Amino acid sequence: MSIRLKTKLSLGLVFLFIVILLFGVLGLFYINRLSNDGRQVLKNNHESLVYCNRMLGALENIHIQKDAEQIFRDNLQKQQANITEVGEKEVTDELTKNFKEMLATPTDTSNFIDIRRAIYQIQELNEMAIQRKSNAAQHTAENAKNTLTVVFTILTLVAFTFIFNLPGVISGPIRSLSEGIQEIAGKNYKKRIYLKQKDEFGDLANAFNIMAGKLDEYESSNLARIKFEKSRIETIINQMRDGIIGLDEKRGVLFMNAVAEKLLGLKETDIAGKYAPDVALTNDLMRTLLQEEASKKELKIYADGKESYFNKDVLDVTNNAAVIGQVIVLRNITPFHELNEAKTNFIATVSHELKTPLSSIKMSARLLTDLRVGQLSGEQMELIQGITEDADRLLKITGELLNMSQVETGKIQLKLQSADPVAIVAQAIHAVQFQAQQKHVQIRTSVASNLPMIQADVEKTSWVLINFLTNAIKYSPERSGVEVIAAKKGDKIEFLVKDHGNGIEEKYLPRIFDRYFKVPGSHDHNGTGLGLSISKEFIEAQGGSIWVDSHLGEGSQFGFAFTAA
Ligand code: ADP
Repeated sequence: MSIRLKTKLSLGLVFLFIVILLFGVLGLFYINRLSNDGRQVLKNNHESLVYCNRMLGALENIHIQKDAEQIFRDNLQKQQANITEVGEKEVTDELTKNFKEMLATPTDTSNFIDIRRAIYQIQELNEMAIQRKSNAAQHTAENAKNTLTVVFTILTLVAFTFIFNLPGVISGPIRSLSEGIQEIAGKNYKKRIYLKQKDEFGDLANAFNIMAGKLDEYESSNLARIKFEKSRIETIINQMRDGIIGLDEKRGVLFMNAVAEKLLGLKETDIAGKYAPDVALTNDLMRTLLQEEASKKELKIYADGKESYFNKDVLDVTNNAAVIGQVIVLRNITPFHELNEAKTNFIATVSHELKTPLSSIKMSARLLTDLRVGQLSGEQMELIQGITEDADRLLKITGELLNMSQVETGKIQLKLQSADPVAIVAQAIHAVQFQAQQKHVQIRTSVASNLPMIQADVEKTSWVLINFLTNAIKYSPERSGVEVIAAKKGDKIEFLVKDHGNGIEEKYLPRIFDRYFKVPGSHDHNGTGLGLSISKEFIEAQGGSIWVDSHLGEGSQFGFAFTAA
């Protein structure tokens, strides 16, 4: 049977109380007994000795002192009343008898001797009694000492047992419990506490074990779920055709999927945990991936015996709005790239093949209008006019498509030469003259005098200016004006085309130079949306810059600039 802690403490305190009580009672008992003995000796024997002394004194003076007899009598009476020892009564009675005889025959001296002897006897009896009682008191004191020593020794032993055991009874389990709690704090949920006691500490240990069990259960179920999720995500990541590299917030490599391993030519196990810029020191692709400007470019990577194309995407991994890492995704765009290439080739072929018959149609139409071929009716002339316009439009489109395919395949062939800006402007205006006249749009030119020459491909630069002008006329109201400006600005030569058309909404401006982009809702259905993108490629290929400035309802201003040669 085990005792509860509360009971143990209560028992300890009760024991202490008993110890105090026992010592108190025993001490009092012995002190009382000794003091009683002393008092008894005083009363019983010492007083008898005093009476005897007084009687002897009175006896000496019985004939000379008047009250001696009375003193004797009084003390005799007191002695009679204080008989305490065996034989004392007989001797006192004899003393009384002799005293009476002495009073009756005062002349008989023999009585004196008897009286004195009797008094001596009483004295002796009492002295012996004192001696005896003193011995007894001594004995009692000795007894008290022994008893108290024994009791003290026993109690001290018991107390020592308590002192040695009680703190252990309390501190032992507390130590085990605090160790257990520390283990739990250190996430060791397997920790259990085994206490033999069935007291409160035992209950506490049981509660602790239940808690640790629950935590363990929770932890392992959580862990299993996290492991499951992890392997699921790993499987998905490894199955992907895109290369994926995970970095932590300090740019250490966390993981890499199989595709990324192939592309980088590295093993995940070899570089996991390494600082990515360190890996980049010996790996070109990693270096490119870590460069920020590379994000928009298409990456051509030779791996696994073939060339593939990838787009880099960097995604921030966040937790509660804090960035805790990055995932670099190398999106495999090879199929799109191949399709795009096929499309470009197809467009190039078709537009190239169309160009010759279209030109000959145009030529034939023009010949038909020649009077030498024959006189045509007004209706026939109109039809031929229509054929010529359509042929022109088709030629413009095929030209744009051809240019675009050149741009896309990176085959822009530049004929850079020293060119006069004035000539470029004149050539462009000449090309759109007819179109402007038809719409009654007046083209005003403002070309600064003494403009320096520029290094440019005249044909392509004029093409861009023509494209600007064609658009400006197209998007201008009838009978409005279009300005062409060529001026020097710093070390640059700027070409500007300003119109007073509707302008372009600000939100579309960033996309205006994108391929196939047309401002939604614009009324022109003939355009391809290629003109401006080709213009951008042409100008940038020559090292120039291109821009647009437009406000809805106010008109647009397109411009490009070259550094003066
Ligand atoms: P398109 O062959 O369709 O003209 P562009 O690339 O030259 O193709 O122009 C792209 C789009 O930009 C046009 O569809 C038109 O909506 C808009 N745009 C170009 N120039 C102007 C202009 N001067 N004013 C208003 N919109 C214009």
